Amino acid sequence: MTETSRIGLGLRRGFSLRCPHCGEGRLFARFLKVQEQCEACGHDNAVYPSDDAPPYLTLVVVGHVILPFMFWADRAWSPALWLQFAIWLPLVAAVTVAMLPFMKGAVIGFAWATGVTRAGSRQ
Ligand SMILES: [Zn+2]
Repeated sequence: MTETSRIGLGLRRGFSLRCPHCGEGRLFARFLKVQEQCEACGHDNAVYPSDDAPPYLTLVVVGHVILPFMFWADRAWSPALWLQFAIWLPLVAAVTVAMLPFMKGAVIGFAWATGVTRAGSRQ
């Protein structure tokens, strides 16, 4: 398997919230809590760091998807400020929270594919 296809595989499995090692077991035990051991293959997925990358990537994607609509709506209808806050703030918050697990899964899949582990862990 080439490095590029391994990275694609890791990203795909992680984005699907599956164990990057086998693609079968669930990656998360709770909302953003990584399973210590995969339920299917027993692989330790907690050794892969994700740190600040998932929130950063989530905000980049959400910003690029929602901000154009905010500007467009403001130009097209000039809605009242309270109405814009009432629409856009909950929408941005909901989409951000919804996307976080997928981004974290993709980052863990990328770490699995490239062999990046937390300092001091053995894999
Ligand atoms: Zn697994």
